[in-house]
Amino acid sequence: MEFAFVSGDPALDLVGTVESRRGAAVDRLAAPGDLERWIGACDELPDGVSVDAASFTAALRLREAFYGLALDRLRGHRFSPAGLEIVNEAAAGPALVVGLSDVGLRLSGDAPAVLAQVARGGITVLADRHASLKECGRPDCTRLYLDRSRGARRAWCGMDACGNRVKAAAYRARRRAADSAESR
Ligand SMILES: [Zn+2]
Repeated sequence: MEFAFVSGDPALDLVGTVESRRGAAVDRLAAPGDLERWIGACDELPDGVSVDAASFTAALRLREAFYGLALDRLRGHRFSPAGLEIVNEAAAGPALVVGLSDVGLRLSGDAPAVLAQVARGGITVLADRHASLKECGRPDCTRLYLDRSRGARRAWCGMDACGNRVKAAAYRARRRAADSAESR
């Protein structure tokens, strides 16, 4: 699996294309072709969108602006004016074309329209004070997600990626503690 779509919103999933942000960060979007594949893999965005260098740069700027604004929100800070400017400007871009087909909704548009769509969705998330925005409970992960579970008890971006790893590490730690207690 190259890209994860687990955050519940394309803007947050875009933010998640940089993994382990506080440690040895890994950026899954190294070139415009990576962004083309990310857009194609996202269910809520059109297929076959081509990305030029300018749109790629704009996308990375939008991504980092969203990350900063989401952290502001998580920490209860006022939104950074520079971040707001980037996101609001992107959201004022062109609209995707929505059509009906036998397989359902059909979306089309170019890269600026895709970024505008991502920005508008992300704005809706950050504007909603009741949305349960969280950071994954595995400290090295740093992925953000919307917790839409009942009672908002979801602690991980994904059970396979992070929940099971944390639980396995806790189990190993308990085993080590028990072994050293026995050997005393
Ligand atoms: Zn995680």
